[in-house]
Amino acid sequence: MSGTFTARDKQAAREIHKLFGRANLVDWVGALIWILTRPTALFIYHVLIPFSIAFGLQSIITRDFAKVNHYAYQVLFLALGYCVLWAIGGLAICRNGIIASEYIQKKIFANYLAKDYEFYSDNYIGALGSQATRLRDSFNDYCVLVMNGVTKQSIIVIASITIIGSQSVSLAVVTTLCMVLVLSFTIASTRWRIKYRRLLSETSSETAGVIGDALGHGATVKSFAAEEFEKKRLDISLKKWTHAQYWSWMTSIPADLGRMFLAAVATFALLILTARLFEQNKISIAIVVLVQLYVIKLVMATQDIADLIKTYESVMSTAHQSVKTMMIEPKVLDRPDAKKLPRTAETGIQFENMTFQYEDAPKKTYAVKNFSLAIKPGEKIGLVGYSGSGKTTLTKLLLRFMDITDGSIKVNGVDIRDLFQADLRKHIAYVPQEPLLFHRSIAENIAYGKPGANRRSIYAAGKMAYVDEFVQELSKGYDTLVGERGVKLSGGQRQRVAIARALLKDAPILVLDEATSSLDSQSEKYIQKALWKLMDGRTALVIAHRLSTIQRMDRIVVMDKGKIVEVGTHEELLKNTKGIYAKLWAHQSGGYINTEDTKKAL
Ligand code: ADP
Ligand code: MG
Repeated sequence: MSGTFTARDKQAAREIHKLFGRANLVDWVGALIWILTRPTALFIYHVLIPFSIAFGLQSIITRDFAKVNHYAYQVLFLALGYCVLWAIGGLAICRNGIIASEYIQKKIFANYLAKDYEFYSDNYIGALGSQATRLRDSFNDYCVLVMNGVTKQSIIVIASITIIGSQSVSLAVVTTLCMVLVLSFTIASTRWRIKYRRLLSETSSETAGVIGDALGHGATVKSFAAEEFEKKRLDISLKKWTHAQYWSWMTSIPADLGRMFLAAVATFALLILTARLFEQNKISIAIVVLVQLYVIKLVMATQDIADLIKTYESVMSTAHQSVKTMMIEPKVLDRPDAKKLPRTAETGIQFENMTFQYEDAPKKTYAVKNFSLAIKPGEKIGLVGYSGSGKTTLTKLLLRFMDITDGSIKVNGVDIRDLFQADLRKHIAYVPQEPLLFHRSIAENIAYGKPGANRRSIYAAGKMAYVDEFVQELSKGYDTLVGERGVKLSGGQRQRVAIARALLKDAPILVLDEATSSLDSQSEKYIQKALWKLMDGRTALVIAHRLSTIQRMDRIVVMDKGKIVEVGTHEELLKNTKGIYAKLWAHQSGGYINTEDTKKAL
């Protein structure tokens, strides 16, 4: 949060131009029509019309009224032409803007969705959402800026200096000098202030994140009576924001004053000079009028250009955050020659001497180390071990949320890195420990397992997973909205919806992270039954905590510090009374093995 440029910032700036440029070209017809009409319209308005007016005035002074009429008609026709061209350009740019904004929104959404699994836990989700919409808004500002602002100012500056130069070189030189002076000051002062604007954008994004995070977990905040704590967190963010805002405003005062003073000096100098040149009969009265007209235009232009730079900066800093996030490359990628896995009834999994280390983990600490295990088609493997032994990591690796450091993971003999990620994940139904649901209806949440599923199959899955039992009591049934992340359902109900979803997905592999704590006995009974239906006929990798689940597994794999320490059936493992499994089993309570407490007890 230093507010200074880094190489990455510069790259982000280039990316912004590239993205915005490409967005504008999606509707290239609109862009072309605009280019063919708008600059001409601006040229008519800012150059040809003032010219006609100036010469009309000169004709009045010389009492050549025939010419006055001629110039008057010329102004009228030019104005008409201007209106028509302006309207055509306007229509074209409206269409172009809408299509381009849509493109930007889709692009950022697709980009953010394509991130690695870890990305979503590393970032404030609220801030990500606002980044996505702010990018679109900044694009709209950018269009107004480039399309209208820059084009208009360039035409005014170039045309005025050329016209003045065609009549008097010395006048053109002085005008150019004045312009360069005022503009250089404007650009320098605006650049000097950039760091505060940049800081302002960063801090306001951070503030949005803090607010979003607290409100997004409002229920947790309340239950811990942590309102004051959260307010203090916001205070810290706000303090930085206030600092940035204050300096961003304060620095505008000397910048504006300086610019206005220089503009006044330029006006003064040019007035004196044109008077002198007229006195010496070096220029006509029309040119005097034109020069004064352009001096006013130029003075106003410097004000506009200052605003343009400011807008440009604010557009860039707003877009900056989003584009920087867009530049985070996912590490898990489909290979160019990725393939699909043929779907067979029999699907086995092979972990071969597989090792994985988290990026931020200390050296030589591996979450999973030299892990080898062949799971036969239809086999049900229970994963057991203390908390932190690497069970969840193992399931994430199978889903290829991260790439392994060494060794291989194969499904039916095919390395999962050779498969399309989407295809691999189609073969796996994943039921996480605490399933979070979308704030959509129960039916939609179930249908998530199989896009386009019909109502009948949704209900069938709901019935099999005992979702029916509680849905019948809801007034809107399967169309009931579940609240953000599913908060309106109990933990057990959410799990049943997640099981129904997995049932509907009907994937050959099931990865299940069992809940660690017991639910009410009714839910418990239903979930167990539903889980057995779900496992039926599938190859299953289950992080098991329930005694009943563990006992019915074909094999149990006991993990410790990322390694397999014991493998066998329940009976076989119990025989090793010194083993971890036997210890865990001995510390069972309420139908569960408790991997947290046992470790402390040992
Ligand atoms: P389990 O599911 O058996 O409780 P995990 O697979 O969650 O164990 O964790 C295994 C080890 O990896 C732990 O030491 C844990 O602290 C570490 N770990 C888990 N997730 C991350 C992560 N995102 N970044 C760094 N280390 C992690
Ligand atoms: Mg875990």
